[in-house]
Amino acid sequence: MKTFESIAELRSVLKEMRAAGREIGLVPTMGALHRGHLRLIESARDRGDSVVVSIFVNPTQFNQPEDFDKYPRTLEADEEKCARAGAEVIFAPTAREMYPDGFYTSVDVTKLTDELCGRFRPGHFRGVATVVCKLLNIVQPDRAYFGEKDAQQLAIIQRMTSDLNMPVQIVPVATVREADGLAMSSRNERLSLADRAIAPILYRALTLVADALQNGQRDIDRALEPAITLLRSVPEFQVEYINVVNATDMQIVTDVTPQMRVAAAVWLGGVRLIDNVPVSL
Ligand code: AMP
Repeated sequence: MKTFESIAELRSVLKEMRAAGREIGLVPTMGALHRGHLRLIESARDRGDSVVVSIFVNPTQFNQPEDFDKYPRTLEADEEKCARAGAEVIFAPTAREMYPDGFYTSVDVTKLTDELCGRFRPGHFRGVATVVCKLLNIVQPDRAYFGEKDAQQLAIIQRMTSDLNMPVQIVPVATVREADGLAMSSRNERLSLADRAIAPILYRALTLVADALQNGQRDIDRALEPAITLLRSVPEFQVEYINVVNATDMQIVTDVTPQMRVAAAVWLGGVRLIDNVPVSL
């Protein structure tokens, strides 16, 4: 396995891999890899792809400089994990390589960014869509793998690649959780022990809503009520949102639809946690 900082060097290796008949699977990440990321790499490898993992803490998708500064950076450990999971190439560019002086282009996906994290993190998804568009153009993979943990991001990337006729298949991968239900996240490392013990309540709240809807509750507000009460009962939580959305366009639903997601974001001890669960009727 090799790590490249330079787009030109990466491209020349990818050209050789393609000439040898390999199909390329891209796994975009911000590093600080955990089992959730590794599941994406394994999914790509299991499909027979030669796996390229990008590791780039993208400055343009952070709306708080402090969050960007505090984001864990663990390249050496990440390299070992990628190698063990079967990745062949890591692309770890500098910010300057991705955004040289005179960079003025961005990709804006509308509508799907209206609610959930889009509402609370202005500009975040513009940063995400732009960097993913660049990564897809740099690597030109056959497939790119994204976690359902970030369901709104996944929907936005699917929309962008479809709207812009980008020749790549987007492959969703189910959320990997700790034994107590907490969705794995690089940010979990920043939770204190006490907060780590409380954090799984977020997942419990989401499953309350999903279970109610799957058990026949047709009133969305009623389905949400017990979850809101549960989240509010935890003084350490500052709830940003909890909503039921249409899984395709990420609009808040007032009537049940066949494919929905219950999604929430809370702050806990200075750490922002997001999670979501699918609801299929
Ligand atoms: P990040 O490094 O947080 O930007 O995440 C990189 C990719 O890994 C994204 O597609 C995420 O959705 C995915 N991912 C992060 N956490 C998990 C998880 N717990 N389960 C599955 N995929 C995940």
